[in-house]
Amino acid sequence: MDELNELYQEVIIDHSKRPRNLRRMDHADKKADGYNPLCGDKVTIYLKLVGDVITDLSFEGSGCAISTASVSMLTEFLKGKKVEEVGKYFKKFQQLVTTDNAPAEDLNKLAIFHGVRQFPTRVKCATLAWHTLKSALEGKKAPVKTE
Ligand code: ZN
Repeated sequence: MDELNELYQEVIIDHSKRPRNLRRMDHADKKADGYNPLCGDKVTIYLKLVGDVITDLSFEGSGCAISTASVSMLTEFLKGKKVEEVGKYFKKFQQLVTTDNAPAEDLNKLAIFHGVRQFPTRVKCATLAWHTLKSALEGKKAPVKTE
């Protein structure tokens, strides 16, 4: 458990200090804004699709270490995945950050977010990226709010 906590902290710090895919995307196929008023996290997610495959993802925004690490890791994780798979992963991720015995086998590195369940106020920070991405895929115009 302590080892997992250490890994959790290391990965979160690494991704929040050097976020991957932090860039504006011109000519994105899909885009959505998300906001977590509890913490002040803001994120815009951009997507490129070829058929039903997500070929590129990027984001802009500012937020706490957990929200930044979550969106950074999400962009890495979902690149190359199919749109229809996103819902399945989103569900697993939500279970991961809210329940003790969540199966994390398909989530690869995202499994470290299991540590978030010890801090319920942080769950919205961790899931903001996912809510925003889902809204982008659904083509919703209104910004996502976690509240
Ligand atoms: Zn936050």
